[in-house]
Amino acid sequence: MDKAHAILFEPVKIGPVTAPNRFYQTPHATGFGWQRPQSGAALRGVKAEGGWGVVCTEYCSIHPSSDDSPYAFLTNWDDSDIAPLAATADAIHAHGALAGIELWHGGAHASNRMTRVPGLAPSTLPAMFHMPTTARAMDLADIRAFRGWQRDAAIRAKKAGFDIIYVYAGHDYLPFQFLSARTNTRGDAYGGSIENRARLLREMLEDTKEAVGDTCAVALRLAVDELHGPRGITSEGEGREVVELLAELPDLWDVNVAGALGNDSKSARFSQEGFQEAQVRFVKSLTSKPVVSVGRFTSPDTMVSQIKRGVQDFIGAARPSIADPFLPAKIREGRADEIRECIGCNICRAANNEGVGLRCSQNPTMGEEWRRGWHPERIASYPRREKVLVVGAGPAGLEAALALGRRGLEVSLAEKSRHLGGRVLREATLPGLSTWIRVRDWRATMIAKLPNVSVFPESPMTAADIADFGADHVVIATGSRWRRDGIGVLNLEPRDFSTALTPDDVFAGAQITGPVVIYDDDHYFMGGALAEKLAREGHAVTLVTPHATASYWTAYTDEQGFVQARLLELGVTLALSQHVTAQTDGAARLACAYTGRETSVACETLITVTGRLPEDRLYQSLHGQVASLARVGDCLQPSSIADAVYSGHRFARLLGEDDPAPRRELPPFKAMP
Ligand code: ADP
Ligand code: SF4
Repeated sequence: MDKAHAILFEPVKIGPVTAPNRFYQTPHATGFGWQRPQSGAALRGVKAEGGWGVVCTEYCSIHPSSDDSPYAFLTNWDDSDIAPLAATADAIHAHGALAGIELWHGGAHASNRMTRVPGLAPSTLPAMFHMPTTARAMDLADIRAFRGWQRDAAIRAKKAGFDIIYVYAGHDYLPFQFLSARTNTRGDAYGGSIENRARLLREMLEDTKEAVGDTCAVALRLAVDELHGPRGITSEGEGREVVELLAELPDLWDVNVAGALGNDSKSARFSQEGFQEAQVRFVKSLTSKPVVSVGRFTSPDTMVSQIKRGVQDFIGAARPSIADPFLPAKIREGRADEIRECIGCNICRAANNEGVGLRCSQNPTMGEEWRRGWHPERIASYPRREKVLVVGAGPAGLEAALALGRRGLEVSLAEKSRHLGGRVLREATLPGLSTWIRVRDWRATMIAKLPNVSVFPESPMTAADIADFGADHVVIATGSRWRRDGIGVLNLEPRDFSTALTPDDVFAGAQITGPVVIYDDDHYFMGGALAEKLAREGHAVTLVTPHATASYWTAYTDEQGFVQARLLELGVTLALSQHVTAQTDGAARLACAYTGRETSVACETLITVTGRLPEDRLYQSLHGQVASLARVGDCLQPSSIADAVYSGHRFARLLGEDDPAPRRELPPFKAMP
């Protein structure tokens, strides 16, 4: 280990328990929840194996009145939850880490779509999460009952084996709704002054400590700033006062910024490593208890600086532990160059928002620990010394070459361009996306360590070259191209856009003149990011999209609000709910997505960001020419970077193996008599 990093491996006492080091995996969603406990347990176990000293669960509901369906959450409602929760605690303990559980009540944030129990809140509030319903104001009997649910859930969590039990007042959830004057307008002992609004939180801490504090640490997760300005909780105002009021009560402070979840897990496009420091750093000056916070930390030197400068006692991480569960082990073993750094793309957040299992652009094994038995650091060796030729060194080809190399095959990776990286080489040049190049950099670094993988840049391959090469297996990873016919997610009618540019042309350096119109019928990052780039370069830009918001799909990566605000701040004109139907002299013709009513906007350069087509001509022409031929990544299915990496990895794992159906967690079933 680099001596400078030794401080990261010091044990830290948290109340009655001791963390073996300072690496703290803060709670994060997995998309598995109570329905898939084995998948969740295996995922957490791998984090502990990778050296995280504390590993926490995702949000774990304490009562049916806190039901976040259709999103995946854990439940701790009665004794039948103990065994599945214990599976996770056991998986974490197997590697010597402490197990934390984030007990949760969402209040007005939980819409209870599954349980159909009326929602609860400090005051009557519209449901906070996109549902046309209302949470009712809690009376004193409700508050008494609520305190009992937290206490009982803590006792069950202790029985399940957890070492750190959370009181959770972050992310707009119930105890936080009591804290904030924006959501608490009560006139009784739980409303009014900040002391009164913090009363429930104090009682929860006292109750939880009394119930389990003899052997378990009690952590308080608090949003010290809800980023709503002086009317809300702020780190200079009432957030600070809450920390002063409760300073020594919890055994650990887990602090962050909140409001929407997107503020806490901000993507790299809108935040730097350590982005919460300004708001959370005051906490340590007010308490003697250990403090943890997050900030997409992937650099060991930044981590050391967090500790030495007294910002926090742990290195809190959710996304960096997803991208690399073995991050602590790699630092400990002096292999920091091998850390698979999170790129901050928030595809992991999208998985939860879509209601599917966790996935990651950098780590294709994330979420597959139980379902497919994949391990981030281990892969079965291939039984024979066979030769593979991989054509194309984008995310899919790089990942396939690396994983095949780790299996011991003799791999040649041929890339047409001078530089490796494919799409990420281009996409990382867009504003805010420079971290995306880490997808290439990590793979290039790891490939360079494998003597059995040879890389050939500036090697455009033809079908004849490939046939002559004589490899046992050929993998085509030649990527995709943007369509020119206007067909996208919402428009299926071909259009004559022969004078328009696509993102491929823009990256290739096409000239952009006069007023620019970008037609986005792709809805992920590309249309908005190109609009931002061109507006920054001084062009007058109109972004036209048939959706009602700009870059609609970025709502899943918790970025949409930030994207739209930035475009508006840069003076980009948004033409929402509109299609571009034609480009004529100096204008683009628009049609309303609802009524078809036609208008036009000035346009000298039209850029269409619609669908993509696989670049599979090489693959098609090789059919029947080579014995073992496969295509991976965008060449098979144009999609996200995460899907391309996964596709390359999956191919490498399964080469020479049967493709067994992934395991499923089915609920116990008894046939009707
Ligand atoms: P993916 O996301 O599936 O990895 P990319 O578009 O990022 O796809 O990468 C495809 C890569 O394949 C690009 O770097 C491209 O230059 C390369 N490529 C395309 N055709 C050939 C070819 N005939 N020979 C070698 N490399 C190629
Ligand atoms: Fe990081 Fe993206 Fe992976 Fe999430 S999906 S952990 S943001 S690389």
